[in-house]
Amino acid sequence: MLFRRVLALILLVLSGNLSAQNLPRFALVVHGGAGAMGGVTPAQESRYRAGLEKALEAGYALLKEGGTAIEAVRASIRVLEDDSLFNAGKGAVFSYEGRNELDASIMDGKALRAGAVAGVTRVKNPIEAAYAVMEQSPHVMLCGRGADEFAATHGCQMVKPAYFYTTAQRKLLIQARKTLRRQQHQGKSGSAQASKKELKYGTVGAVALDAFGNLAAGTSTGGITAKRWNRIGDSPIIGAGTYASNAGCAVSCTGQGEFFIRLGVAKSLSDQLEIGHKPLQEAAADLIFEKLAAMGGAGGLIAIDRKGNIAMPFNTRGMFRGYVREDGSICTEVFNQ
Ligand code: ASP
Repeated sequence: MLFRRVLALILLVLSGNLSAQNLPRFALVVHGGAGAMGGVTPAQESRYRAGLEKALEAGYALLKEGGTAIEAVRASIRVLEDDSLFNAGKGAVFSYEGRNELDASIMDGKALRAGAVAGVTRVKNPIEAAYAVMEQSPHVMLCGRGADEFAATHGCQMVKPAYFYTTAQRKLLIQARKTLRRQQHQGKSGSAQASKKELKYGTVGAVALDAFGNLAAGTSTGGITAKRWNRIGDSPIIGAGTYASNAGCAVSCTGQGEFFIRLGVAKSLSDQLEIGHKPLQEAAADLIFEKLAAMGGAGGLIAIDRKGNIAMPFNTRGMFRGYVREDGSICTEVFNQ
């Protein structure tokens, strides 16, 4: 691994890409979900920020050594999945029936290769299962028991479903069930669809540009609390919650997944750069503040293009997000600046 990285750096130097004036440009952006942020205390806010920083450091350490954007995305997301604060991996939300059903996807912007899993219940790091689907199967997306089986036989660390139990998420489920029952009594739909005000944060994602000029994106989530009927959101859907193309940009979304699916947000953003030649920030703002808002949808996204431009718009009260540039400087933000 180390040998490969050193060799990669030597090749970069030889190809003239690495010189004092022309340093390889790389950058990494991560998010920990968008939402109403009700009840986030300053102490909690600093714990979330510390989690984001740890994720950025893990990805940055790889990029600095000549690692690829895909490697950095995987490393950052793994850190966030292992942190019970975030609604992904260890801290995933509960479904209505009290299960943790996890979704994740990853995409390589160089060759437009992608992998995704939906509704897995035993994979410790669903982003690794998504990566295994991309690398070791002829498919893009696997779901449910088959996806768990595939992960188990393709090198992913498996855990008992109880691993994903957290008291904090259990409490949110109990509350959500009460709300749903009340709604059912009032003759309303009784399906989990967080309103803009109730939307909780915690889905995680990362987008990266590496020294070779390649982009990658990944997203991982437990979905939404009290989801039913094997509901699947945008996070594992390539083109909705995740997309990466060197010709456009790398994108990871968070928010009310149903809206992101209907708008095909991630692919739409990349296309606006590739086909519409729009600047990244303008196109990202248009999607979140105009198109998503016009439909009544709430959420945000992180994105990066090949020039290292980044965008992190959201139309919720806050969004956990942060970035690291090639000089190693880290910035994390929660609310609007
Ligand atoms: N987008 C995710 C979903 O709908 C949830 C989130 O980002 O918080 O499953």
